[in-house]
Order: sequence, then C-alpha cells, then structure tokens
Amino acid sequence: MRRITILGATGSIGQNTIDLIARQPDRYHVVALTGGRNVAQLARDAIALRAEVAVTCYDDCRAELANLLSGTGIAVASGPAAVTEAASRPADWIMSAIVGVAGLAPGYAALSHGTTLALANKESLVTAGPILKSAATRHGTRLLPVDSEHSAVFQALVGEDIAAVERIVITASGGAFRDWPLDKLARATLAEASSHPNWAMGQRITIDSASMFNKALELIEAKELFGVRPDQIETVIHPESLIHALVGFRDGALMAHVGPPDMRHAIGYALHWPDRQHLPVERLDLAKIGQMTFRAPDPARYPALALARRVMEEGGLTGAAFNGAKEAALDAFIAGQIGFLDMARVVEATLDKMSSQDGLQNAAMSLDTVLQTDKLARIRAAESISDLG
Ligand code: NAD
Ligand code: MG
Repeated sequence: MRRITILGATGSIGQNTIDLIARQPDRYHVVALTGGRNVAQLARDAIALRAEVAVTCYDDCRAELANLLSGTGIAVASGPAAVTEAASRPADWIMSAIVGVAGLAPGYAALSHGTTLALANKESLVTAGPILKSAATRHGTRLLPVDSEHSAVFQALVGEDIAAVERIVITASGGAFRDWPLDKLARATLAEASSHPNWAMGQRITIDSASMFNKALELIEAKELFGVRPDQIETVIHPESLIHALVGFRDGALMAHVGPPDMRHAIGYALHWPDRQHLPVERLDLAKIGQMTFRAPDPARYPALALARRVMEEGGLTGAAFNGAKEAALDAFIAGQIGFLDMARVVEATLDKMSSQDGLQNAAMSLDTVLQTDKLARIRAAESISDLG
C-alpha cells in the first residue's frame, strides 16, 4: 500500500486527487487529509478514505470537525502547526494543494522527511524555489510538478538533456477578460473575474488567471523547476487550453503536450510517476476540434507578465515579495477595496519600495527570511493600497 497525504484536500486540486485515489482504494493508505473551513467535506473524505488524521488549518473549526469524526477513530487536529505536523508524518507521496504561501512550510516539512512531493502549490516555488530544491536533494527525494503547464514540460523532458533545451513555452488561456476592451477592465467585478472560460479551479487562481498573475507565477515556477534562464521562458495565448506547454530543443524541434483541460491528468502523472497508468480523462478527437489558435499576449492588458520578468531577473527574495504583495492585492480586490487593474499597480509599487529599501536581491534565503519577506510585502502592499485611496 502506498501511504498518501493530501494537503488542501477540500480544494479543487485536492478533490481531483481524491477522485483518483478513491478509484483504487486497495492501492492507497491515506495518512492525513488537511483542509480549511469546509469541515463537512473534510470529514466525509476522511471517513470514506479511512484517513489516520484530519486537520483543519483553522482552530475555530476544530470542534465541529471533532464532532463530525467522533467515534470513527480518526484523529483530529487544527492550526498551521498541525498542518505541518501532518505533512511530517511518514508517507510515500504527498500532494501539496494548499493555496498561497501557507503551503510552503508543510511542503518543506514533507521534503525534509524524504517524502515525494507532488506540488500544485506554485507559490512555494515562487517564494522559495532554491530552498525546496536543495531540501529535495539533501533528503534524496523528488519534487514532482502538478501545475498542468509544468507537468507538460516535465513530460516533454523525459529522456532529454536539459542542456539541449532552447526554450520553454508556457501557454495561457488568457483568462476571463482576454476579449474585453481594455477600458472596461478597470471596472471588472469580482463575479466576472471569478469565472474561467476553460478550467474549473479555486476562486483565487481563477482571478489570478484573469489578471495573468497566475501565468506570472508560472513563468517564475518554470525557472525554478527547470533551471533555465529567464530569456528561455516564453508565454503565448492559446484560448483553447489544449496544448499545456511546449519545449523547444536546439535542433529546432518543438515538443507539445496536448490534452483536455482536466487537472486529473497532471495529478495522475505525478501520482504514478515514473509509470503511466490509465487515467479517466477525455480522449481528444482532433478532427472534431478542428483548429488550435495562438497569439502573443498584449503587455498593456497583462502587466503581471512584465513583473514576472523582473522577478526572474532579480531573483533572491524578490519572488517572496512579489507573491506576498500579489496575495495582499488579491485579498483587497476580493474585499472590494481596490479595482481589478489596481492589483498590478499595488504589486509593482511594493516591489519598487522593497527593492530599494529592503535589499531583496542579495539577502540570504532561508525559510525564515522568505516568510519575513512575505509578511513585510503584505505590510508594504497595504501601504500602497492606502496610497491609491
Ligand atoms: P482551492 O482554493 O480550491 O483549495 C485550497 C485548499 O487549501 C483548500 O483545501 C483550503 O482549505 C486549503 N487552505 C486554504 N488556506 C489555507 C491555509 N492558510 N492553510 C492551510 N490550508 C489552506 O485551491 P485550488 O484551486 O485547489 O489550488 C490549490 C493550489 O494549486 C494553488 O496553489 C493553485 O495555484 C494550484 N493550482 C491549482 C490548479 C487548479 O486547477 N485548481 C491548477 C494548477 C495549480
Ligand atoms: Mg497552470
């Protein structure tokens, strides 16, 4: 039996992971499931999968979870430290599907205990890529990408020499507003930003897709995962979301990964890696699809992409500052405090302030300095938000 833990089990990626695991109950032993406020879902899944422990990251949800699980023999815990403790329990494979920088400490703990880490939580690579990679090396374990674009690149690289790679092309759907007139974007509402044309995902990543902050995170994620130079990473708008990424080699060949927009493919690839096993995803009928289209992203529409370039060039703690500011700006947009286009303004102003005052590029990188930078970025972003008002 493979011992499995799912962090962020109640979210979109978590539920897709459970869908795959639940199809083969004899193959997997579930160690821990973690979630947030949706304790009913967490309890249901913990019972169905016979988990050892269920953890909510919120202490005020603990009593309700304990009540739902009483008499089942499933242990209950709460709070951020308990999530990290769950990630530290002996397991063979952990899915990190928490949203935001909150996924960093648990993911790091999993690697430090030698557990294979399937990483959907892109924020941990953006903020602390070098730390996670060196933890994986030190503890003789692997980090497997789950973001669909990065899984696609990972698959295109099987059997290849990374030195032969000329470029990586990350595709982007263009998000909810790809065809909106530019002057309407400033007035985009939360509801409009929260619906994605192709993918069903959590609310935060869906809004990040509309602003392309998600793609910005993914460009940085690609640099951290594959160790290529920033100028080797490109993005192209591909509205159909069928090609997830392409890898260009020095002989001019471009290897594309094609599949339906279903995260169970990337999750399943990481689950069964290095094997390939049957997955319950749609098989594409290319003749029916007929055509796929591509276009260059408009920098005026997507200022997040230029910010990603800056982060990739500057390196160091800039990724932590970028992500912290982005999370704070997204919170403010969700709370109705700032407009859709203000998010990029806030992130840029925060990076400007922090690069000059807080020396991000040359600071030593550790889990502590990353988390401190994240906190500081949220404070600086809050200042920028009140400057806007
Ligand atoms: P989601 O919002 O649907 O789920 C997030 C999960 O994290 C939930 O279980 C929630 O309870 C938990 N969580 C939230 N805040 C937490 C905290 N502070 N501490 C501990 N747990 C917390 O999100 P999602 O769409 O499943 O995305 C999860 C991660 O995967 C994100 O990093 C996202 O960028 C990445 N990702 C998602 C998709 C997708 O298709 N949804 C695709 C690629 C990458
Ligand atoms: Mg993605």
